[in-house]
Amino acid sequence: MKIALLCRNENLYSHKRLIEAAEARGHEIHVVDHLRCYIDIAAHKPAIHYNGEKLTGFDAIIPRIGASVTFFGTAVLRQFEMMGVYPVNESVAITRSRDKLRSLQLLARKGIGLPVTVFAHRTGKPEELLKIIGGAPVVIKLLEGTQGIGVVLGETPNAAESIIQAFGGVKTNILVQEFIKEAGGEDIRCLVVGGKVVASMIRKGREGDFRSNLHRGGSAKSVRITPAERSTAVAAAKAMGLNVCGVDLLRSNHGPVVMEVNSSPGLEGVEKATGKDVAGQIISFIENHAKPNKTQTRGK
Ligand code: ADP
Ligand code: GLU
Repeated sequence: MKIALLCRNENLYSHKRLIEAAEARGHEIHVVDHLRCYIDIAAHKPAIHYNGEKLTGFDAIIPRIGASVTFFGTAVLRQFEMMGVYPVNESVAITRSRDKLRSLQLLARKGIGLPVTVFAHRTGKPEELLKIIGGAPVVIKLLEGTQGIGVVLGETPNAAESIIQAFGGVKTNILVQEFIKEAGGEDIRCLVVGGKVVASMIRKGREGDFRSNLHRGGSAKSVRITPAERSTAVAAAKAMGLNVCGVDLLRSNHGPVVMEVNSSPGLEGVEKATGKDVAGQIISFIENHAKPNKTQTRGK
C-alpha cells in the first residue's frame, strides 16, 4: 500500500515508529507536511499540490495533526477524503475531539461515565457553579488548555471561588469539575485501535501534583485494566468516531470516568511503558480497512 503520514515533524518518536512499522510490513509511506500543502478545490477533481507535484495514488492516510493547526490540518485531511483516500481517523472525528465541550456532550449522550462537569462562560456567581458540582474541592480547567496547563485544583470553597473569578476576568470559557480525589493523582491512558484496547498505562504525577501529565514530569507504567475500564474506553472511542485514540480515565469510586479522548495519542510513553507495538497495530488496522469508499463521512 501507499500510505501518507500527515505530520509536521517526521523525527518525533511516534512518527518514526509509524514509518518503521509501515516499512517493516512492506508498505510505501510518505511524510506529508500539511502546512506545506496547497488545497486545490475543484468540483470534479479535488487535488493536493505538494512540493510542486500533485499527490496521487495513496490508499490510506495517518493524520497526526497538532492541536494548534487543527483548522488547516483537518482541511487537508478532508481533501484526501474527497480524493477517496482512507483516513485512519476521519477529519470530522478529529475536529470533534478538539472541542472539549462537544466531546463531553457526545460522551454523555452515550451514557459514558464522566466526572460531574459544568461549563461556563460567565463566572459572576461562582457559588452557584460550585453548588451544581456539589461543592469544593473542584478542578477548574481552561477550555483551551492542553498538557495540563490551565488545570487548577480549588481545594476550599474560597479558593475555588477566587480561581473561577480570576479565570472569568480573562473572558474565557471554563469547565468546573468534581475533583476525583480517590484517583490519587493517577490516570489511565488506554490506546484504542480499531475498537480494541491494545495497550494501557497508568500515569502518576510528580509528588504533590494531582495532574498526571507526562509533560508535567509524571511517570508511567503498564497496567492491567478492569473489564469496566476496557468497555468504557472502547465505548468512548466509538462515541467519538475515532479508530485510533488515547482515552484518559480516572478511577473514581463511582467507576471509571473519562477525562478526555485524544485523537493523536503519543506512542512513546505507552510503547515504552508496556513494550507493546502500538505502531504495528495501527498499520495492521489500515491493512484490514483501507479499501476504496470506506470513508464514512468524506468530511461532511
Ligand atoms: P489536559 O487536557 O491539559 O492534559 P486534563 O484535563 O487531562 O488536562 O488534566 C490534566 C491532569 O489533571 C489529568 O491527567 C489528571 O491526572 C488530573 N485531573 C484532571 N481532571 C481531574 C479531576 N476532575 N479529578 C482529579 N484529577 C483530575
Ligand atoms: N501530542 C498529542 C497531541 O497532539 C498529545 C500527547 C498525548 O497526551 O497523547 O494531541
